Amino acid sequence: MAKVMAVNAGSSSLKFKLYEMPEEKVICSGNAERIGHEDAIFGIKYNGENDKKVLPILDHARAVELLVEALIEKGIIKSMDEIIALGHRIVQGGKYFSHSELFNKDTEDKIESLIPLAPLHNKAHLVGFRAFKKILPNVTSVAVFDTAFHQSMEEQDYVFPIPYEYTVKYDCRRYGAHGTSHQYLAEKGAKYLPGIKHPRIISCHIGSGASITAIKDGKCVATSMGLTPLGGIMMGTRTGDLDPSVMNYLCKCTGKSVEEMYQIFNKQSGLLGVSEVSNDSRDIAAACEAKNPKALLADKLFIRRVCDYIGQYFVRLGGADLIIFSAGIGENSPEFRQKVIDEIAPALGVEIDRELNKGLRGKEALLSTPNSKIKVALIPTDEEVMLARDAYKAYLEEHK
Ligand code: AMP
Repeated sequence: MAKVMAVNAGSSSLKFKLYEMPEEKVICSGNAERIGHEDAIFGIKYNGENDKKVLPILDHARAVELLVEALIEKGIIKSMDEIIALGHRIVQGGKYFSHSELFNKDTEDKIESLIPLAPLHNKAHLVGFRAFKKILPNVTSVAVFDTAFHQSMEEQDYVFPIPYEYTVKYDCRRYGAHGTSHQYLAEKGAKYLPGIKHPRIISCHIGSGASITAIKDGKCVATSMGLTPLGGIMMGTRTGDLDPSVMNYLCKCTGKSVEEMYQIFNKQSGLLGVSEVSNDSRDIAAACEAKNPKALLADKLFIRRVCDYIGQYFVRLGGADLIIFSAGIGENSPEFRQKVIDEIAPALGVEIDRELNKGLRGKEALLSTPNSKIKVALIPTDEEVMLARDAYKAYLEEHK
């Protein structure tokens, strides 16, 4: 029996999911939160039970120790040797990685060199990796990059129209994000397109972070996020695309620094900024019911931005065979899906089954009617299983 763990380390958190491979059966999952604090939280879900305790977890290595202790205590594993591989999520792989890579000195150095492009994330991922290495030194460890799937973009899709010197000297270009999710969705979505020679998919990962990707023949040709996950469509708290002069103008108007304004664009904008209600689409929906004008505007703006990208990618792909809705909002908000479809329908001839869509939350289904010119599907995303798959594949390679 092969047990493989998917790991997502943040600056003060460590999420994990243990799989039985190759069956891809989830054995348990959990999270250490508030790492670095005396009152940190360690939680593990196993056999329908959700154990949570508050205790000091001063660093990531302690979180990994707690995790291993919990696995043994609950009888999930007898010894640590049963875990044969680890898949670590890495947000930024820069220009170096177009697929997952075994962890070694070179991989570590490259991830470290990319910290300026993803300061919070890449640093935390390395801390997480090193914590696991301390406790499980001989386990196959694989880095799975959020950006890797987008490395197939052509130059004219990833170069920004800035002085070319900056593109080269500072690696300042579009990298995209959510690549692991879009790849998973494209692979799952392929089953709705039997017999189509060159399938064209528009994948909409719409959660608190949101991105849209144009996929042809299973490869990314364009994606909405940019140098960082701030670009593209409007999000829960992020602006998405803006005229770059907004930064300069608002810094002058408010007296705030570029760094302060950058934080505002990341954390106080998007649905939250426009509605002044919340970054959560459920709260926005409730405020819209109550006819709050700013919530109504935020909602309309959000739908418009999503539809503009779908239209752009329809042209970019030379048509589309499938539109996929996924992630927190895409999976759980029938109203959001219907509004998007209603807005693009006159141009794209797409139609979904209103009744089927209404009741659907978090469950895979083909939503389009036979009349629709493009198929539309709801597919729940699963980034963790992709981490487990790549880690297991690397283990098999290493041991053949
Ligand atoms: P994610 O980042 O993919 O986990 O998505 C989180 C977001 O999904 C939340 O901030 C909400 O805006 C949205 N969301 C989650 N559940 C629902 C729901 N039942 N209805 C509408 N939106 C939801």
